[in-house]
Amino acid sequence: MSNIVEYDLIVIGGGPGGYVAAIRAAQLGINVMCIEKRKSFGGTCLNVGCIPSKTLLHSSHLYEQSKNDLVNYGIEINGKVSLNLNKMMANKTDTVEKLTSGIAGLFKKNKVDHSFGEAKFLDNKTIEVNKKKFKADKLLIATGSVPSTIPGIEIDEKNIVSSTGALEFEKVPKKLAVIGGGYIGLELGSVWKRLGADVTVIEFSDTLVPTMDKDIAKIFHSTLTKQGINFMLSTKVESAVNKKEEVEIKCLNFLNNKSEVLGFDKVLVAVGRKPFTHGLGLESLNININKNGTIDVDKNFQTNVAGIYAIGDVISGPMLAHKASSEGHVFAEQLLGNKPEVNYQCIPAVVYTEPEVAWVGPTEKDLIKSNTPYKKGLFPFSANARGKTTGETIGSIKFLSHKKNDKILSVHIIGAHAGELI
Ligand code: FAD
Repeated sequence: MSNIVEYDLIVIGGGPGGYVAAIRAAQLGINVMCIEKRKSFGGTCLNVGCIPSKTLLHSSHLYEQSKNDLVNYGIEINGKVSLNLNKMMANKTDTVEKLTSGIAGLFKKNKVDHSFGEAKFLDNKTIEVNKKKFKADKLLIATGSVPSTIPGIEIDEKNIVSSTGALEFEKVPKKLAVIGGGYIGLELGSVWKRLGADVTVIEFSDTLVPTMDKDIAKIFHSTLTKQGINFMLSTKVESAVNKKEEVEIKCLNFLNNKSEVLGFDKVLVAVGRKPFTHGLGLESLNININKNGTIDVDKNFQTNVAGIYAIGDVISGPMLAHKASSEGHVFAEQLLGNKPEVNYQCIPAVVYTEPEVAWVGPTEKDLIKSNTPYKKGLFPFSANARGKTTGETIGSIKFLSHKKNDKILSVHIIGAHAGELI
């Protein structure tokens, strides 16, 4: 008798892509098993990404408001506002634990089996995990992504950290360098700035968050500068070396060709993320992988090998949790014969800084590039009565609509509650 356990679907990876796919497929009536190599579900997003970063963004915002802003509204705190970083971190851990264990509860409720351990393909139908074998006709790869690195800069998660390390500092750094002006670097830079660090963002390109609309990015840059974050744009970091007292960064501004050596007590490397397929054994199956490391899939998320599918950060498209979840949901529906599709034009992006930035649809530059005739409307928060009542007057809303039929093509917001508005 074979000791291989069989399922209809095996999902590899328990992140926002994998767990949503597993639950939806089980709800639609098939036998599903989800394998996760971490000790908890929720993937990057719940364990070391969206959730812990948003918790710290909220806590640090409350701290800064209590310290600097409430007095403007006639609220005086008679006594010092002080930071208890241990407690702030404990609240973050508690939030993460509640959410990750919630997924275990959802798996139980929806009868999704699971296994903790690293999955490896033995052939196109068989997976090995913890020396046990599982078989399925359909297999879904949802193994996500990991932080990108810079050649020659070694991340020790102590002084030179990735986003994971920057969520765990035991004390507020005096001087923090953030290499990369994308949304992860700016969110985590904002957290530590609010808690008291002197933060310098070093960015290769001449603008922040290159995927953001340029009008909005300009307001964003000047707002963060006013908050006290230092920016070095058009600057390349050539090395970052752990010295006795500090991390020494050597960088080159290629506008004026000036080299500088700067010292920081912590350095966050936030130069993007790359798809993760290491250790899965995909080579032996000859699964097509693109130059940038993403797995090639068709519109039904199927790879070039029949019965093997992929979704989320490990395929192309924006690396966002709700994109991975939408793909997971649609994948499961399609597997069971339904016909939904992901509308990639309607995936919003949000940067949870203060103020927030959020958008959906193409930037003005994209429309120019695609020769789309458009009209532009820009409205400042400073002229919005609700903004005035709450003192949240920084920012603008920009609409881009089709010149001929007024169809809204995209919306770009910088301002309070931009995430909810989008
Ligand atoms: P992941 O969440 O990466 O999950 C993949 C899982 O697969 C992992 O748990 C991994 O352990 C597991 N795995 C890998 N290989 C194997 C194997 N061989 N066997 C078993 N398991 C395996 N997105 C947003 O939309 N909004 C945000 O505000 C946001 N903030 C972020 C903040 C930070 C600091 C970071 C780092 C990311 C953030 N993201 C955010 C991005 C978001 O986390 C990802 O887009 C999302 O988690 C991708 O989901 P996924 O399921 O594709 O992959």
